[in-house]
Amino acid sequence: MSTVKIALDAGHGLYTVGKQTPDGIKEWIINDKVRDKVVAFLATYDCEIIHTDNDEGNTDESLTSRLNKYIAAGVAAFVSLHHNAFTGKWNGATGVEVYTDNNPTVADTQLATLIHSKMVEYTGLRGRGVKRAAFTVINQNKIPAVLCEGGFMDGTEDYKVITSDAGQTAYAKAVAESLIEFLKLEKKAQPVVEKKDEKISVTYQVWAQPKYKWLPNVVDLTDYAGLFGYDVCAVFANLSKGNIFYKVHTKDGKWLPEVKNREDYAGLLGKAIDGLMMRTDTGRTIKYAVHLRKSKRWLPFVTGYNTADSNNGYAGILGQEIDAIKIYIE
Ligand SMILES: [Zn+2]
Repeated sequence: MSTVKIALDAGHGLYTVGKQTPDGIKEWIINDKVRDKVVAFLATYDCEIIHTDNDEGNTDESLTSRLNKYIAAGVAAFVSLHHNAFTGKWNGATGVEVYTDNNPTVADTQLATLIHSKMVEYTGLRGRGVKRAAFTVINQNKIPAVLCEGGFMDGTEDYKVITSDAGQTAYAKAVAESLIEFLKLEKKAQPVVEKKDEKISVTYQVWAQPKYKWLPNVVDLTDYAGLFGYDVCAVFANLSKGNIFYKVHTKDGKWLPEVKNREDYAGLLGKAIDGLMMRTDTGRTIKYAVHLRKSKRWLPFVTGYNTADSNNGYAGILGQEIDAIKIYIE
């Protein structure tokens, strides 16, 4: 699935005349703060955010330029973030509203309704409703597009909310959650963090006869698993991280089914083994070696996993009993 594009528009610019609180906080500054918070909310979702205003607020991009930019980008939705004003002098105006154009599509109305209800819920401000207006920036019917008014810059009560971090977060959360729901955004896949220097240990043990029992666990090369002079019949192993898969060859002539971790052991209690093969899904190299009972020697470490490769595909010499094994992950 390809990444969903979304356009977020902080209304106006830093130097747009008149668009400010009575004490001089520019509307673009507040709009931009809300936009940054929406972006932060969406950071873990699989989407790409496009800004249609000038990022530093240096210019007040024209409404047509903003419109053309998000149409050209082929976004899945457009949200323009604004704050309202009534008289420009302190007054009692209050509430949030969300606009569609005058001929809204079903999608326009759905998105506007969703944002409006969440803005009311999170900001605690009065809902003034979903409204229609011929705003240029949302005046097309190809892409779901809405314009939000997050409260009155000159409303004495709204001012406290919209200039506060909590109020801006509430506005942003409403917009972000609405986009997640409306566009069915999915969480980004978590990259598998593979620390190159992180050690992966293998813990393993063998069942030996004629001891007829599991010998103690061994970790990596701190020891070997087995008792010289006693046949290994079965192997148990697991990793500190990831999965290990392994199988053994019985001396009477067959490879037994592969087992994973300690879901089962590889081997048949009572039957000596003469071959061992191991692999992992860690992306690391597993190195394993076996000791031969009769010739009393270690064979070289092998790394492969292939019954047809007697050189590096498994450890052992078929026909010769194994009495000890050692394993580590490189
Ligand atoms: Zn505005």
